Amino acid sequence: MPVVAIDGPAGTGKSTVARRLADRVGAHYLDTGAMYRAATLAVQRAGVAPDSDDVAPVVAAAEIRLAPGPDGATVVTLNGDDVSADIRTDAVTGDVSAVSANARVRELLVELQRAHADSALLVVEGRDIGTVVFPTAALKVYLTATPEARAERRHRQNISAGRESVLDEVLASVNRRDHLDSTREASPLRAADDAVLVDTSDMTLEQVLDRLTELVSE
Ligand code: C5P
Repeated sequence: MPVVAIDGPAGTGKSTVARRLADRVGAHYLDTGAMYRAATLAVQRAGVAPDSDDVAPVVAAAEIRLAPGPDGATVVTLNGDDVSADIRTDAVTGDVSAVSANARVRELLVELQRAHADSALLVVEGRDIGTVVFPTAALKVYLTATPEARAERRHRQNISAGRESVLDEVLASVNRRDHLDSTREASPLRAADDAVLVDTSDMTLEQVLDRLTELVSE
């Protein structure tokens, strides 16, 4: 099960890079953030507080499925409903770090993530892929960028998706989520010791893709 692990904080271009890289090298693609987002939506729909101990049974009972969509994007279903758009709202983004800090939730989702590995090359993006989910991955990449560059990217994505966006607020939200993700006890966001660090602050998407394609073929 050859795996390329791509980890890093929000706004480094990780999702686009991982998806396009998978396409370029003929690999399957797995967006683990989408799983945590679907779990968060399940928790919200159940009316359970995101930091309560009751989140784990809700997530255990939820049927979360990820499948490749028409344009290489992922179609996410929760109990059979297509929630691909619903998991990208500010409400879900605001609660996802709290839900994903739950150790039992992580166990459940890590099991689901490992079930996606088979004989095909798999590009997996997330926060703990190289450290916890696939510690023996053939290649581990840790994407970084300055908080300002990351906020700027998210801001532009919001605008082009027709969502309202205020740069300062995006920066505050990016910083808050990264702080929560990297200080939690369960599988905190960090680079694996053997990860290749790529700072994307001053790189275009094509440059990042070229660098990663080079690393995959090494
Ligand atoms: O990548 P994305 O921004 O969609 O991830 C949403 C959230 O899911 C992250 O902020 C983090 O709290 C959580 N996550 C995680 N572990 C992963 C992937 C995502 O804890 N492997």
